[in-house]
Amino acid sequence: MSDRSTDAIHAGAQSPRPEGAVVTPIYQASNYEYHGEGYHDVGYARLSNTPNHRVLGERIAALEGTEDALALASGMAAISGTLLTLLSAGDHILAQDTLYGGTTGLLAHDLPRFGISHSVIDPQDPASWADAVTPATRAMYVETLTNPLCQVADLEAVADFARERGLITIIDNTFASPINFRPAEIGFDLVIESCTKYMNGHNDVIAGSVAGRADLVRRIKLFNDHLGGSLDPHAAFLLERGMKTLDVRVRRQTESATRIARLLEDHPGVTTVHYPGLESHAQHERAARMFDGFGGMMAFEVAGGVERAEAFLAALTIPTVAASLGGAESLIVRPAAAVHSGLTPEERERSGVTEGLIRFSVGLEAADDLIADLEAALERVPAAASG
Ligand code: PLP
Repeated sequence: MSDRSTDAIHAGAQSPRPEGAVVTPIYQASNYEYHGEGYHDVGYARLSNTPNHRVLGERIAALEGTEDALALASGMAAISGTLLTLLSAGDHILAQDTLYGGTTGLLAHDLPRFGISHSVIDPQDPASWADAVTPATRAMYVETLTNPLCQVADLEAVADFARERGLITIIDNTFASPINFRPAEIGFDLVIESCTKYMNGHNDVIAGSVAGRADLVRRIKLFNDHLGGSLDPHAAFLLERGMKTLDVRVRRQTESATRIARLLEDHPGVTTVHYPGLESHAQHERAARMFDGFGGMMAFEVAGGVERAEAFLAALTIPTVAASLGGAESLIVRPAAAVHSGLTPEERERSGVTEGLIRFSVGLEAADDLIADLEAALERVPAAASG
């Protein structure tokens, strides 16, 4: 019986090894000799069927515990490709109220142009969902952990509710990664990752994946063959390399984040900490029951509002102020000024993104060094802000 850390290194590897190579080489070829295959299976990199794509697909499926998986050019390619494959003009989808900004934009601004509508649901209130279902509803879309507050929806209820009504369930599992949570195990049909984040883990690749039922993954592949959002073989190689350490990275980031969240919660200069591993988190018990770990993402507020938050960010020496997450380098950002700046102040308020809120993606630096840096910045800031 293989473990996820073993799967992350070996699942789907080519056999026999080409020329004995211990890792999958980069197949930097756009097209392959023809042997009578049908259109979608002709060897051609846009059709996501090079050896690099095939190994990645099998490896991701093993990690997610699904029948099949497809690696694509970005998380958004996976999200848009999935929704455009499953939904046609006139169809309707239920979507969690707080989603990644790109997904919200796609649902709110792009898909309506194709006659696809959505209703927003409160993921904490299953009793309210039935009212939002229409005869045209085909699917439900949620995220494992919301950005940036790390809220955990009633995911078991989502899977049950959708199964009873024949809806396809789609979940963006980016913040958890399959190391901490495998949504297919509780009945989700399709699991999306922005592999740009934890899956690759080195802040140097843009990639995405969709894993799940083989019939659905095949349909998404066929549609993506026309959309054209296939992953470049070199990026596929980097993603495969990054994924080999997924298990050790995510475990280490989870450990460090837990220590850091506890420290911040007890610090007089910090007013609120949102981390599912803290007993004070509203869905802590649910997260503890469903997840193998609480992850490396958290959000917090320093006392003193935006000005002090900005001074605190400027005083840090290890984390870089940047919008992405899940890599070796710790990244920190004030969402209202960056990743959520596209929302109106009212929309931000509704999703709990206060102006001074800070989102922290804990990296792989020594937790002691990160803690010392955070403490030093918190100490320095009162003088900086008042003087
Ligand atoms: N899903 C989540 C939760 C994200 O945070 C992001 C990007 O930040 C995406 C999807 C989109 O992924 P990508 O940037 O790889 O297209």
